[in-house]
This record gives sequence, C-alpha cells and structure tokens, in this order.
Amino acid sequence: MADDNKLKQELLYMASITSKYDFTRMEVVEGILRLENERRILDSVFGRRFKTRIFDIAAGVKIDDTCVLCGQHADNRVICNHCMETILGSDYAKNKIKNKQTKRFKLPTIDFSKFKLPEIKLSKVKIPEIKLPKLEFLKTEEIPDNRKNSVKIFQYAAVICLTLILFMQIWLLAIAFSLPSYNPTVEAKVSDNEPVAVSDIEAAKLQLQKDFPEDQGYTITFAREDTDYAGRFLVDRGDCCLEVEEQLSDEERYDYFFTEPIFIFYISYNEDDAGKVGMAEVNHTGSILVMGSFNDGRRTDSFYRYR
Ligand SMILES: [Zn+2]
Repeated sequence: MADDNKLKQELLYMASITSKYDFTRMEVVEGILRLENERRILDSVFGRRFKTRIFDIAAGVKIDDTCVLCGQHADNRVICNHCMETILGSDYAKNKIKNKQTKRFKLPTIDFSKFKLPEIKLSKVKIPEIKLPKLEFLKTEEIPDNRKNSVKIFQYAAVICLTLILFMQIWLLAIAFSLPSYNPTVEAKVSDNEPVAVSDIEAAKLQLQKDFPEDQGYTITFAREDTDYAGRFLVDRGDCCLEVEEQLSDEERYDYFFTEPIFIFYISYNEDDAGKVGMAEVNHTGSILVMGSFNDGRRTDSFYRYR
C-alpha cells in the first residue's frame, strides 16, 4: 500500500505540475528539478521519464511527444489528456485536494489561535490573583516567626504561671501540714482524782485545786451557788453533757433534767504568751464539770464531765 500511495502521489505530482507550468522555460524546469533533487519524489520509471522529458523540452531537444505514462500522443508533449483526466479525477487526487483545502482552512484557525493570545494576556491579568496567595504564603512564612515568638512568650508565661501555682500549692500544703503543730488536737483531759463529797464552797474549791493547782499558774475564783441538771453529772467522764442531752429520748430527758445545787467557779490560767479561761461546776458528791476551750473537736460551749 505504501508503494501504491507513493506512485499515486508521484503521478498526481506530475499531473499537477504539467497542468500549471510551461516546460519550455528552462528556469521553470531547473526549479522543478532542483526541488526534485531535495525531495526525491519522482523516483519511479514514470518519474524518471518525466524528468528527462521536461528537461528535453526546456533544452529544445527534439522529442516524440508521446505520453510518459501510457505512450499515446500527448498534446502538451508530456502527459496525454486521458491520463491527466484519470489522475486528476481519481479519488486519491480529490482527497488530496480536499486535504490541501482543509489545511488551508486550518491556517486561519492557527491565526485564530494567534488571536487567542489576548486571552493568554487575560490569564496574565489573572496572575496577580495567583500572586496574592503567594503574598499570603509569604505572610505565612513571616508569621511563623511572630507565632514562634508569641508561642515562646506564651510558653514562658505558662511555665512561670504553672511554677508559681506549684509553689503556691506547696506553700499551702506546708501550711496545712504545719497547722496541727500550731493547734494540735488533744485527747479529752480527764481527772485522775476520784470524786469526794463536798459540803461547802471551800471544800469544793479544794477539790478543784487538786486538778488546777495554784503553783502551776491556775487561779480559782468562786462565782455563785446554782442549781443545774443532775443528768450532766451522770454521763461518762470525758463526755460532753450537751451532746448526750441531744441524743436522749423524751422520757430519758425527763429524768435527766432534775436539778441539784452546785458550786460554780471560774478558772483562769495565765502564761507569758497564753491565757485560758474556763468555768467549773462542782456538785455535792464532788463530781466536776468544766466548760471552756476544747481543742479536741468538741463544741467550746459544751459542759464536759471531768470527774
Ligand atoms: Zn497517457
């Protein structure tokens, strides 16, 4: 097929040249042959015969005027009319001409593509928009330094704050641990002395002085004679009277609230940097209640069975 197409191309080339050019002019024939030397189109037997013929015509050599293709008489002294019509009227020739025309029509389309250059310029106008993100990228490249600084500042501030908080927690913890040493909770103090019946103020005061002696810094002052609830003196030693009273039933409380005469004394204790003030009640059997400041977690206004 390639050879067939090559021959068809060759024949069409010869026919079209024959129809266009005047072979009696040597400069025309020389131009065709020079081009032929470059392109090498006319390689077949017909082509070589064609080249020889047109050169002979240009050179004025006497020739037989027969068709180089079929050998019949040719009016133009190269290719007869029948061969010309056959070649130029063939489907191959028509396709070639069409292709040439479409190629020519395609050239303007190439020109149109050249007219599209302004559109490329429009896209160039769009390039600044593309540069904007680049500027943003530059900003993002610059921002990390600022952010790094701000992040570092924030980190330092956070470290300082957290360290301060840690020190404050340690300080509060130390205070919490040291507080019991300032005001330690102690066991309820209970007298070692057994109750001895008392008949008057002086006897009652002597009983108190056994537990709060003057030579240890206690001062006992008589306040008054009074009546108080007998039940207070019936609770276990070391218990708080008021706390027991709250837990009694109504029937128990009725028996509990019988009154009896008591002696009431104030007890004070003074050191260089500390003072204690309390109140003591002594009944006729020698039992003692004290009311004052207790640091064992009981209410400070509670009576406390001492002995
Ligand atoms: Zn012919």
